[in-house]
Amino acid sequence: MKAYVLHGIGDLRYEDRPLPEVRPGWALVKVLAAGICSSDIPRIFEKGTYHFPTIPGHEFCGVVADTASPEDRRWIGKRVGVFPLIPCRQCPSCERDAYETCSHYDYIGSRRDGGFADYTAVPVWNLMELPDTVSDVQAALLEPAAVALHSVRRAGIVPGDRVCVVGAGAIGLLAGQWAKLLGAGRVVVKGRSEIKRELVGQCGLEYMAAISAGEEFDRVIEAVGSAQALEETLALTAPGGTLVLMGNPDGPRTLTQDLYWRILRKQLTLTGTWNSSYGGADSDWTEALRAMAEGRLKAEAVISHVVEKAELPQALELMRNGTQPYCRVVVKF
Ligand SMILES: [Zn+2]
Ligand SMILES: [Zn+2]
Repeated sequence: MKAYVLHGIGDLRYEDRPLPEVRPGWALVKVLAAGICSSDIPRIFEKGTYHFPTIPGHEFCGVVADTASPEDRRWIGKRVGVFPLIPCRQCPSCERDAYETCSHYDYIGSRRDGGFADYTAVPVWNLMELPDTVSDVQAALLEPAAVALHSVRRAGIVPGDRVCVVGAGAIGLLAGQWAKLLGAGRVVVKGRSEIKRELVGQCGLEYMAAISAGEEFDRVIEAVGSAQALEETLALTAPGGTLVLMGNPDGPRTLTQDLYWRILRKQLTLTGTWNSSYGGADSDWTEALRAMAEGRLKAEAVISHVVEKAELPQALELMRNGTQPYCRVVVKF
């Protein structure tokens, strides 16, 4: 098979690789579509990953080509979405099915080989069967959709809440859509580029390039990861409100005394959000797939580019250098 293999920082090669070994309880998945996560850019170009060589790609769907265990053969030929986190099943978080906070997890596409390849190996437990109403390209957005839902659930929205998402990346836009679906009143997405204005509109949300002084929101989601966004979101959260910190931090954080006072005097709730819940009737992944299948969640509205697999290097460069405005880029395999 062919795969994009990361041999070192900035050294991604398209090359021949043997088909992945399929152990008992695992499936061989032929990749159909894979999204490029913004976290893939530092992983490939700046920080590297846990070991080399590794095939990146953790947001993908495919079709099951083979399984190792006879009891799993019913999966063969099924289109599937993939939960990329492989939990340890031994830590306290795993004991209560909170796999997103597992302390010894494995991860498809960062800690082990992922979906930027013709085939990849996935535990059967991590597969979700896709209905025909969800396309391959949409299914490549299941992971960000579940991550976005997780953040919005952490915000504890009650009907009519004013919600602001700072950051108009794919997850920010999906979080805005979820906020609406969960009953928020006004939902504003604050972004920085005009292509985002268009995409925010396609998501049925209100776009703002700047928020007027003194305006406050009951629930605020920080979906950037910059010091400036943290200060901004602290100022935007209304008394008694909740601020959900989601963006991966780009450096250390310090707070001015004034901002610290705001947390106290406004009695803010600050909460983190990480990854997404999986398994069970009400998990983020189950609800994300259901909402996509029923057309409630417009995942495709956050896609700016769909490219063929030969164009993956150019798509990575586009995201790295920002040569064109973009939101989610999905690669068809
Ligand atoms: Zn991701
Ligand atoms: Zn665990």
